[in-house]
Amino acid sequence: MSGGPQTTSSRSRTPFSLDALDFGFRPGPPGPDSRYVYLQEDRVLLDRTAMRVLSAEPPPCGAPILPLGCSGDASVSAVLLAPGDAPPGTLEPVGLRDLSGMVGDEELGWASRAAQLASFDRDHRFCGRCGRPAAPSPVEHARICTGCGATVYPRLSPAVIVLVERGTSCLLARSPRFPSGVYSAIAGFVEPGETAEHAAERELAEECGVAATDLRYAGSQPWPFPHSLMLGFSATYAGGEVRADGIEVEDAGWFEADALPTLPAAGSIARRLIEEFAVRVNTRDSLLSGSA
Ligand SMILES: [Zn+2]
Repeated sequence: MSGGPQTTSSRSRTPFSLDALDFGFRPGPPGPDSRYVYLQEDRVLLDRTAMRVLSAEPPPCGAPILPLGCSGDASVSAVLLAPGDAPPGTLEPVGLRDLSGMVGDEELGWASRAAQLASFDRDHRFCGRCGRPAAPSPVEHARICTGCGATVYPRLSPAVIVLVERGTSCLLARSPRFPSGVYSAIAGFVEPGETAEHAAERELAEECGVAATDLRYAGSQPWPFPHSLMLGFSATYAGGEVRADGIEVEDAGWFEADALPTLPAAGSIARRLIEEFAVRVNTRDSLLSGSA
């Protein structure tokens, strides 16, 4: 990997999305080829025999159905089971996080989309403006108030994640919420009125007391817990002494590329940013030592 502009890596695969999926809004009566993602109480139902979440099992009568898109000519929909409903066939509930690594990219992409649209549907049954019931739009993923006509769209919460580099080391921090020993890049939600770049610089200053320059966009990842979109950046250190804010960050520091701490789970964009940095530094080092 070169240290030049990243073109292909910005489209690298990250779980919970897949560019090849067709998310067109095509509601309609189910056909024999229709496929369903079953959801029940924040869990996705999995066929453990086939290790698949896309199911051909027809939905029970009256179960709410949300169109998700198409797979070839077949429609794909989410089916929302009530807490007490018996799952169809041999399906069994699994947490969405646990599905990563258990099922293929396409299956995980559909599960991610189903979980986010189901969460939107559940949390927007009434109008936030006038309080009357809101109904699904017949033409797009939205809910429309039956009283005042206000339209709401599925909520996405953009967040930035930024890896600051200083020579052969990078700035990593740990949140009190992380598993023991895990360090990651600095992250935070984008505030109203802010650019992603401003959010990255603000979070670095607030949480770690560090300034950065030369922010470089490195790709994005849907993070369906419940509705984030992670915008990844790498950046170059520009000043400041590292100090953890003691709230969002309990410890932070510079870590050499060949002496990294325990990193976040594989599949996160944070992990990818850190690993790509380490490969870049280690490749550069080995080239320099080879030419010495
Ligand atoms: Zn209303």
